[in-house]
Amino acid sequence: MTTDKKIPLFRLTEHICRSCGGRILLQTNSGPTGGGNPVYQCADCGARISAMGPEPLCWCGAEMRGGASMNLMCVLIADARHDPLMMEALSHCGCGGPGYQYEVGVISQHVYRFLRQQDWDKRQEKK
Ligand SMILES: [Zn+2]
Ligand SMILES: [Zn+2]
Repeated sequence: MTTDKKIPLFRLTEHICRSCGGRILLQTNSGPTGGGNPVYQCADCGARISAMGPEPLCWCGAEMRGGASMNLMCVLIADARHDPLMMEALSHCGCGGPGYQYEVGVISQHVYRFLRQQDWDKRQEKK
């Protein structure tokens, strides 16, 4: 029996799944779909979309329960480690703590901006 089905090749993205927290993968050998969009797939639950970006699957742009606009965003933990405020913003979303085993977390850009503003105010007071 022969099959011309290609084995899909994936590359990790810096985004995690909105429904299960799994890492979102970008399929690198699908070629553009009919609509010309790349294919993204969750490594854990297998949710799959063809879109310009992973946003429909991941937390980017998602809203908190209740609809408050928190401007959520996926962040690579390794990148966030250089920024204490980013780590604090991560902890607000329950990510990045000592027991956190994932490489990607979620922050609210709203909280992050607030923390930066607070930090900036503190620096001004010290002057
Ligand atoms: Zn998933
Ligand atoms: Zn994302």
